[in-house]
Amino acid sequence: MKKKKAEHGKTNNMNCIFCKIIEGSIPSKKIFENDELIAFHDIHPIDKVHFLITPKKHIENLISCNEADKEILSNMLLLAPKLAKEQGLQGFRTMINSGVEGGQEVFHIHFHVYGGSTKLAKI
Ligand code: AMP
Ligand code: ZN
Repeated sequence: MKKKKAEHGKTNNMNCIFCKIIEGSIPSKKIFENDELIAFHDIHPIDKVHFLITPKKHIENLISCNEADKEILSNMLLLAPKLAKEQGLQGFRTMINSGVEGGQEVFHIHFHVYGGSTKLAKI
C-alpha cells in the first residue's frame, strides 16, 4: 500500500536545523524537553535571556498550522511563562516570525521568548 503523505511535513525533516537539534546531532543549550516540545537558548540572543520553544514535530510555521495543531500551539504558549520564570524573568516578550516576509529564517515553527535587560520598548 502506498504510504500516506505526511500532512504539511509533520515528520521530522533532516535538512532542518531545529530537527537536528531535536534529534541531538547539533548541540543546543537546552532548558526544557518533554515528548512534545523542546526549548533552548537562542544562539544569537537579542536580550539578556532569549530562548526558543519549538515542537518536536516539524511544522513549518503558523501559516501552515490548522485546527489539528491547536493543542501543540497552546502548550507552547503556556510553557513560555513557566520557563521565563525559571530563567529569572519577571516579564518577557514573545515573538513568532511567520514566512519570509515575516522575517522567519528557520522554517520549523518556534516561539521566541526574551527579556531581562531593560523594560522593552512599546511596539
Ligand atoms: P526566526 O527568524 O524566527 O526564524 O529565528 C530563528 C532563530 O533561530 C534566530 O534567532 C537564530 O539566532 C536562532 N538559531 C539559529 N540556529 C540556531 C542554533 N543552532 N541554536 C540556537 N538558535 C539558533
Ligand atoms: Zn524541523
